[in-house]
Amino acid sequence: MIEELYTPKQIELRGRSRELAETTMRPLAAKYDVAQEYPWEVQKAVKEAGLSGVWIPEEYGGLGGGVLDLCIVVEEFSRACGGMGVAFAVNALGSFPIIVGGTDEQQERFLPGIAAGEKLVAFGLSEGKAGSDAGSMITRAERDGDVYVLNGEKKWNTNGAVASLNTIFAVTEPGRGARGISGFVVEKETPGYRVGKHEDKMGIRCVPVVEIHLEGCRVPADNLLGGKEGRGFKHAMITLDRARPGVAAQAVGLAQGALDLAMEYTHERQQFGQSVSSFQGVQWMFADMATQIEAARQLVHTAARTIDSGHKNISKVSAMCKLFATDVAMKVTTDCVQLFGGYGYCKDYPIEKYMRDAKITQIYEGTNQIQRLVIARNLLREAASESS
Ligand SMILES: Cc1cc2nc3c(=O)[nH]c(=O)nc-3n(C[C@H](O)[C@H](O)[C@H](O)COP(=O)(O)OP(=O)(O)OC[C@H]3O[C@@H](n4cnc5c(N)ncnc54)[C@H](O)[C@@H]3O)c2cc1C
Repeated sequence: MIEELYTPKQIELRGRSRELAETTMRPLAAKYDVAQEYPWEVQKAVKEAGLSGVWIPEEYGGLGGGVLDLCIVVEEFSRACGGMGVAFAVNALGSFPIIVGGTDEQQERFLPGIAAGEKLVAFGLSEGKAGSDAGSMITRAERDGDVYVLNGEKKWNTNGAVASLNTIFAVTEPGRGARGISGFVVEKETPGYRVGKHEDKMGIRCVPVVEIHLEGCRVPADNLLGGKEGRGFKHAMITLDRARPGVAAQAVGLAQGALDLAMEYTHERQQFGQSVSSFQGVQWMFADMATQIEAARQLVHTAARTIDSGHKNISKVSAMCKLFATDVAMKVTTDCVQLFGGYGYCKDYPIEKYMRDAKITQIYEGTNQIQRLVIARNLLREAASESS
């Protein structure tokens, strides 16, 4: 990170996040990866370090930082443990719909608890048969007096098993497609809200990813996001535009963390009577990886700055940074496993976990094929408006 490009507050934030990641997250990463348990002790440490609400406005008890501040923290956490990075970042994904679409009253009611680290929050868009095509969801929300009755199943709900709040998207007006979808803040104690199957995942194993069953779940009408029906899909898409740099920052952290480990290992490892890191073929790999990581980091930070500036069209740059950084993470972590030789393939060393954790960044919050669609659509729209 070129320090001159960042505010003193951001440099301090990076230092605080790195210290927490090195002292608390790295030593616990393997334990929670094996146990597949949510790391409550890490969540407590994040809370005590005052980092729970980095992206939440100061008036609601947050640090008032933007997407760039969020990315700086997520990169540092993910450098030590990709799972712990997403366990933190998913709270931004879950709370962005409230920030971008909630009424003042909803923001006052829900954001302070999230900012204080008292309440974790999840994001419920995907369903078993509605992934890339999230607009084809079938979970229903029907008005009944002063409540909405929700019925359906949400799939792949990160944090769902531990979150007090869940921003759930459901169809309020069938037949209207995306315009018939609304967002709700659902509290976990709501009758009819049930956590189902826990996924047994390849990576990010410390974060529970679960099914959420909504069985006659009666949600107060006051929890309809923005107080109006039909805005949910738009809020979900704006949320993804704002949250994708966070996934990209997770990818940058994973790639950087893997490179750090590979450089250390190959320095110690002797073959043909010398350090493996002294071979030019290996050094060129380091140079390529470091260059790709820095390019990814700068694209992520450019996207984050664009979003923080209030720019209207953020979809393209947000998708670009997610696409580029996550592909870099997959390549770099795979190459780093290679540099550990046979030991890289075994769980005695931490490097294989980086490769497992990196894979999901190419899939969630829109697969990289979908990012390409978003980028191409924007390019074509821009070209059409320039020629008209
Ligand atoms: C661990 C994990 C955590 C997740 N967390 C959350 C969460 O917290 N909240 C949430 O709402 N969702 C979450 N998701 C869901 C995630 O966003 C979806 O898995 C993802 O969007 C892809 O949807 P799908 O799995 O149904 O795949 P599909 O949409 O069925 O896609 C299958 C394949 O087809 C490709 N494809 C689909 N459409 C096109 C197209 N038009 N052009 C080209 N290729 C295409 C895809 O890229 C993919 O390769 C999570 C998923 C996982 C695995």
